[in-house]
Amino acid sequence: MPVCGLCKKEASLRASHIIPAFVFRWLRETSATGFLRSGTNPKVRAQDGLKVPLLCEECEQRFSRLERQFANSIFYPMQRQNVAEVEYADWFLKFCVSISWRILTYAIQRDLIVHFSEAQKRESTQALARWAQFLLDEVAHPGRFEQRLVLLGAIGRAPKGRQFQPNVNRYFMRSVDVDLANSESSAFTFAKIGPFALFGMIEFVERWQGTKITANGGTVGPRQYELPRGIFDYWMERAKHHSQSYRKISAAQQEKLVADIRFNPERFLNSGTFEAMEHDVRMFGRDAFWNHKLESAADE
Ligand SMILES: [Zn+2]
Repeated sequence: MPVCGLCKKEASLRASHIIPAFVFRWLRETSATGFLRSGTNPKVRAQDGLKVPLLCEECEQRFSRLERQFANSIFYPMQRQNVAEVEYADWFLKFCVSISWRILTYAIQRDLIVHFSEAQKRESTQALARWAQFLLDEVAHPGRFEQRLVLLGAIGRAPKGRQFQPNVNRYFMRSVDVDLANSESSAFTFAKIGPFALFGMIEFVERWQGTKITANGGTVGPRQYELPRGIFDYWMERAKHHSQSYRKISAAQQEKLVADIRFNPERFLNSGTFEAMEHDVRMFGRDAFWNHKLESAADE
């Protein structure tokens, strides 16, 4: 009998989403054509995100409840009703930890942590254990393995001296992304759920002001952040990675995409994809779109 990754009880395991399924529904619904492409295999149209056998039924339900709360009280109000700021209660930290825990569990299972130093690997094991205890209500907070959130939005102009990717707005506003990243002095899980950029801290020394999700509740909304310098470049690397995987789409697939847009131009013009593209075009000129029209990060 397999063992549940979270509660460690023997059970048949459910195929659990790393990023909640509703996020992919949102991406499809607001995309130019109603289709998605998988970041790992952009040659096929995908309808859903990565799923792995991870949790028993009870733990899966525990995560589902948190996902519903996030969808209904934060994600949809901000995305659909343009609510600028929302309050959150204690459950939100649990939701964030549940995402970070899934990413780290998956990365360790698949041996995707080889780039970490020995010390960072030890910290990762500690983080995973602490996050599991918190998720199972055995401890009151995740300790030093904090959850940090940055709410991203459209960017109007490039900060001085910084190198932007031409798909920056599509990446910031719409992409779904998962990563386990490190530098010499920091290590974190990273999840991007549309404009919500979530960091599960494993090791960090620099200031991340305005980002911490607290156990007792707080608000999510636009604010001034103070982030390590490297984070911006990290995001641009991710944006570049996304656009490169979309360049692998064949000429036939490109034609199909263009045909879909021609068939239903209204859908395209009203889509979130188009809105994000417009921001990129405003910033970089037509090059941002017409020369790389398939760079859209996760949707088409
Ligand atoms: Zn379980």
